[in-house]
Amino acid sequence: MAELIRLSAAVLAEKLAAGEVSAVEATQAHLDRIEEVDGAINAFLHVNTAEALLVAADVDKTRSTGDALHPLAGVPIAVKDLIVTKGQPTTAGSKILEGWHSPYDATVVSRLRAAKMPILGKTNLDEFAMGSSTEHSAYGPTRNPWDLDRVPGGSGGGSAAAVAAFEAPLALGTDTGGSIRQPGAVTGTVGVKPTYGGVSRYGAIAMASSLDQIGPVSRTVLDAALLHEIIGGHDPHDSTSLTDPVGALVEAARNGDVEGMKIGIIKELHGEGYQAGVEHRFNEALDLLRTAGAEIVEVSCPNFKYALGAYYLIMPSEASSNLAKYDGVRFGLRVVPDGAPTIERVMGATRAAGFGDEVKRRIILGTYALSAGYYDAYYGSAQKVRTLIQRDFDAAFGQADVLISPTTPTTAFKLGEKLDDPLAMYLNDVATIPANMAGIPGISIPGGLADGLPVGIQFLAPARQDARLYRAGAALESLLEGQWGGPLLAQAPEIVGVK
Ligand code: GLN
Repeated sequence: MAELIRLSAAVLAEKLAAGEVSAVEATQAHLDRIEEVDGAINAFLHVNTAEALLVAADVDKTRSTGDALHPLAGVPIAVKDLIVTKGQPTTAGSKILEGWHSPYDATVVSRLRAAKMPILGKTNLDEFAMGSSTEHSAYGPTRNPWDLDRVPGGSGGGSAAAVAAFEAPLALGTDTGGSIRQPGAVTGTVGVKPTYGGVSRYGAIAMASSLDQIGPVSRTVLDAALLHEIIGGHDPHDSTSLTDPVGALVEAARNGDVEGMKIGIIKELHGEGYQAGVEHRFNEALDLLRTAGAEIVEVSCPNFKYALGAYYLIMPSEASSNLAKYDGVRFGLRVVPDGAPTIERVMGATRAAGFGDEVKRRIILGTYALSAGYYDAYYGSAQKVRTLIQRDFDAAFGQADVLISPTTPTTAFKLGEKLDDPLAMYLNDVATIPANMAGIPGISIPGGLADGLPVGIQFLAPARQDARLYRAGAALESLLEGQWGGPLLAQAPEIVGVK
């Protein structure tokens, strides 16, 4: 059964439909893999064994009666622990939600359940999705399957590592500034941030509501499209949800093609500050795209140099407001201090004990940026920068159908390397943040190796043009597979580890 875990979701779905393998076998194979390697990886905060097997058994039973099933029925999936699930814990990677159970399912989770996809469990993340390495989780870091001494990116390192380590064929992530694409890049997986509003945020624990977006994590571009079509589409529970149809994403992924496509290199998002090996792989990808008939042009987005600064005002501002509800009264942890426990003292003690340093740093920063007298200077200015970034994108998409850049400036770094240097940590998202600021979609696909570690290539498209990402992404994926003689993850080392 070892081969089962290596199949893409699309191929596994075909085998399930053909009756070559049962949903229980497929689910059990992944649960066994989790048992085997997750002691070393720590991708999962909770494994949902009994329920996943029940769903799988139900799929097998339905199939035996000949009743209709969703094409992905029986394909297991992991869910980032920022997304609420009924019947399983949801911690957001924080002590403050330890032991809390959501009374409802996120819309994306309801859609997985409707498709009868067994949910394997909940994956690790930086606390409240704040970070780029998963080291800010209150439950210990996740390790990169390519090298256990290195980070899997963040905040969705758990989802990316689970998929890279063949613990799950698919996972859900959330991307506020890059938390799907950046972990995708450094683990050799595919990560998609859909157009803002394209996938419901109902039941995604809010970090920065104007930037947050749920999206797919997978090993192939086609698998991401299959999952995107399941989770996408209008949801009346989310007031920012688009009413547009999801679009023919799977069709685009099955018909990868860049012939005649205008691809814009973003001048500001490569070169100086980018690791030589990353730059090398990026140039190789450009050459392959050119050979396949793409027209490569250069575009300039001069305001991107302010994107990171503006993000780190808007994001903490929204987070400081969103996280005010963790007060020791409504959710999870409650710490009652000695003496006269007034409500203020209970709140203070709970938040002091329940939040980690990075979350506190951002709450303080956001509260300051929103305070009277500073609001215009900080939050107001950051919003103006956001408009300038949107205008840069508008101009760039006047010259190109899609834009391209490396997803991250470097490959995976060592655990601990950037933990005490918040600015160095923040810089990992320099190429991913602009898309969130503009609400546009982005994809990261594995772009080969630099010094034995994965490099990610990012495509960006105008809002609502997610299909273009799948068309371009699938084309580059197959060009690169031709170049390396197969999928990148086939080259990943065996995980032998600390149990
Ligand atoms: N790394 C970025 C941050 O720390 C992005 C996080 C995310 O996308 N959730 O804010």
